Amino acid sequence: MLDVIKLLPDSVANQIAAGEVIQRPASAVKELMENALDAGATQIDLVVKDAGKALIMVLDNGCGMSETDARLCFERHATSKISKADDLFCIKTMGFRGEALASIAAIAQVELKTRRREDEVGTCIVNEGSLVKEQSLIPMAVGTTFTVKNLFFNVPARRNFLKSAQAEMRHIVEEFTRVTLMNPEIGFTLTSDGKEMYHLYPGTLKQRIMGLFGSNYEEKLLPVSQETDRVRINGFIVKAEYARKTRGEQYFFVNKRFIKHAYLHHAIENAYLEMIPKDSFPGYFLNIEVDPSDIDINIHPTKTEVNFLDVKLVYAILHAAVRKAIGQHNLSPMIDFEEPADLNLDFSEASKASRPVVFPNIPLDPSYNPFPQHRKSSPGDWRLLYGERTDTRTDMQTGTRAELLPDMMTDINKGVEHHDHPVGESHPVSQYLQVNQSFIVTTVKSGLLLVDQHLAHTRILFEKFLKELENKNGASQQELFPQAFSVNPNDASLLKEMLPELENLGFVLEQANPTTFMINGTPSDAAGCDAVELLERILDNYKINRTDLQLDRKLNLAKTMAAQIAVKPATKLTEMEMQNLVDQLFACNVAEVAPNGKKIYAIVTIDELLTKFN
Ligand code: ADP
Ligand code: MG
Repeated sequence: MLDVIKLLPDSVANQIAAGEVIQRPASAVKELMENALDAGATQIDLVVKDAGKALIMVLDNGCGMSETDARLCFERHATSKISKADDLFCIKTMGFRGEALASIAAIAQVELKTRRREDEVGTCIVNEGSLVKEQSLIPMAVGTTFTVKNLFFNVPARRNFLKSAQAEMRHIVEEFTRVTLMNPEIGFTLTSDGKEMYHLYPGTLKQRIMGLFGSNYEEKLLPVSQETDRVRINGFIVKAEYARKTRGEQYFFVNKRFIKHAYLHHAIENAYLEMIPKDSFPGYFLNIEVDPSDIDINIHPTKTEVNFLDVKLVYAILHAAVRKAIGQHNLSPMIDFEEPADLNLDFSEASKASRPVVFPNIPLDPSYNPFPQHRKSSPGDWRLLYGERTDTRTDMQTGTRAELLPDMMTDINKGVEHHDHPVGESHPVSQYLQVNQSFIVTTVKSGLLLVDQHLAHTRILFEKFLKELENKNGASQQELFPQAFSVNPNDASLLKEMLPELENLGFVLEQANPTTFMINGTPSDAAGCDAVELLERILDNYKINRTDLQLDRKLNLAKTMAAQIAVKPATKLTEMEMQNLVDQLFACNVAEVAPNGKKIYAIVTIDELLTKFN
């Protein structure tokens, strides 16, 4: 029998390689733009026709190629970027495999024009299906222009698989975005079918993001910056309140290379501490800089995957960096509580000096009636409206929660101006109103602040429980008459799994027999709650959201506990309770959204009020 194995001709081998590297016009765009970056260009222009199917042209003002290199660059494994195997582990360029141009030339008609600074004339080469068709000398500016026509002209199957022009154009814009984002110091344009779609001027990363996504991003972005000796993280995240329903704006780069990495993506999403609804996604534009020897990017021909030497470390640093950015943003006071200067308050100088006194716009003279037409008919009624009470104790007796987290008071002054009443001073008018026994209303400088009491309390407790889980210091309250908590064997083993975390929160559980636990102590925040019901809910949620990541488990636990314990809607609150709640809310890392992603407060601005009465 004859030998059957033959070596494939280069043109066929190149076509096979092209199948991996060049899947669609956008892949060619990416490769050509990356080559221009590697050539040190400061201006790169992309021109496409018919979503790249008819024409892709990339013009750069980079270093150019010699006549010989211009011929060689279409050969497979022809690269100027690495020369030995070791180089693979210190890659500083976008390309290194030397396959892109060979692949593109195998499946398209390519014209290359290039000139180096030291050469007087440039070289023009026409390559079609891996064969050099023409070569000539031409006058031209320094730099390189690649013109790719009729992509997949000789691979009809591929060409037929391409999507609509719109879909292919979206892919091109996406690749263009990825390349341009991390190179803000370079100018770019994108022209499609004769129309200029993007004109990006050299500038900062923030300016680049605005150039690509719109100038309204100015207010949406939070800077992220974190440096350790092995990892540097820089970029921007989008504020939680601008999270979107699609995964659109998630750009994660490693050494400026766009990377898909589910695990590290998780680090970022998690850092938002469930501030965004389940069906929304945070936006981010982050670059991680690591020593090239700490990563392996040679896993896949398109180089959008990367292996880290120590991915857990990167996860932790990334998570911390994003947390820090969110925390700093939320700590800066965003709401100015009222502090009218022109009120003649009759407080002693001493108390003025030690405690800033802030009153709302409600006039202090009790005989003053803001509704003059009612002044005669119903004197004093309005005062009831403002809850003019001197003794809040009466309310406590009518069943409100008297002590709303008194031990959280230490954190109060973190972010918001203090707006307490002086201690012991009886205040003539209430600052806080309750609407429908569910919403707290108070005034702030910009207008009316409306707070959902249940969601606010959920956020406060959630952050408190997370802290306790972290520091393992939840306060416990001993049960005088321990209740028995009976579960099925499966739940019993789950409960045992969670015991350390439950104890950190203040639960004291003792296993009496394989399926019964005695509840000897409960978290002091849960006073008045049904401990059995609470544990059942915790177990249920644990089963639904079970994950391997410890971080997630803590989040889930804190979230369940907070939602279960927080003051319910339709609960009457005293003024003091309302005040504490608002104070503590704005001392939270995140005051805007509850752990379930719902908005906690709204502000009706004075402008909005004015238009209502226009
Ligand atoms: P790689 O980028 O992996 O090296 P390519 O096939 O993309 O492989 O390119 C082959 C070589 O051609 C590059 O290494 C580079 O030397 C040269 N080259 C490609 N594009 C340009 C360009 N725009 N300017 C200068 N040289 C280029
Ligand atoms: Mg390349």
